[in-house]
Amino acid sequence: MAGIDLADRDVVLVTLDSCRYDVAKRARLPTLSALGPLIRAEAPGTYTLPSHAAIFNGFLPRPVFGSLTIAGRPVGAIWRSAAARPSGGPVGVVFTGSTLMEDYAARGHRVIGAGGVTFFDPSGTGNSLPRLFPEFHYFGRPSSAPADSTTRIVDRAGSLALAHVEALAEKCLSADRFFLFVNCPSTHIPYTTPNSPLTDHNADLLDRLYQLHDGKRARSAQVSPLSRKDVHVLLGMQRRALEWADGQLGRLFTRLAERRPLVVVCADHGDEFGEGGRYGHGHPHPVVSTVPLWCGLLSPDLCRGVLA
Ligand SMILES: [Zn+2]
Repeated sequence: MAGIDLADRDVVLVTLDSCRYDVAKRARLPTLSALGPLIRAEAPGTYTLPSHAAIFNGFLPRPVFGSLTIAGRPVGAIWRSAAARPSGGPVGVVFTGSTLMEDYAARGHRVIGAGGVTFFDPSGTGNSLPRLFPEFHYFGRPSSAPADSTTRIVDRAGSLALAHVEALAEKCLSADRFFLFVNCPSTHIPYTTPNSPLTDHNADLLDRLYQLHDGKRARSAQVSPLSRKDVHVLLGMQRRALEWADGQLGRLFTRLAERRPLVVVCADHGDEFGEGGRYGHGHPHPVVSTVPLWCGLLSPDLCRGVLA
């Protein structure tokens, strides 16, 4: 892309797992708003595995209208595999490896992954995503743990990848060049963070929501339906979880700003709350497919403006 040297930049790629576009639109996000405008985009998959498989091949969520801009310049795609069909328009980085990680590693970047939701647990023998990274740091609950209310409906702090921004920044800055990927589970059910703790009320709502997720139905003989007020409470938890992530990203970006990395932040899919008769994700519905996306170039000036 003429005039902007994207190919040799360090990279920060962040996925806000399950974050809905409408939640991002209502949230107060000083860090992400400074990075670039909130873009309404369509995810390449309806759940974590296919969406990340596509993202790791350069197929980011696609803007519903218009095109991406980097430093004020339109760009048809930030990354494009040399194996993909030419799509027209300027491309930031054409890569030749089978994944972004393979390509950046071959070009001398330290490639670091961190997460996340259980698809990223490297101890899960069926989990292919973390194996795409030469180095992956997983902070979430073990994928082999029983999935019941005692293990799922919990307060979370250290199990959130963005609780570890200082350590992740150190790893990046110790390398001459870096590619950092972070899958953020804070916006994934149960939506708990230090900014959105459990209460007796929201724990009951989450218990019912998990049962509806598991059954994928708006109504079940065993579960009381969620009212609009209940859904409002749960979406408020996701909004506060996103605002917590924004604060942590501010700390991460401040540490990395001197390196002026290319940054992309997006959701991998959204979550349905009964709008089409189902709950959760993994099925096609506009609230599952429509996701937020931001991109831009970090700079010390940008971070000083955000955190002043
Ligand atoms: Zn996901």
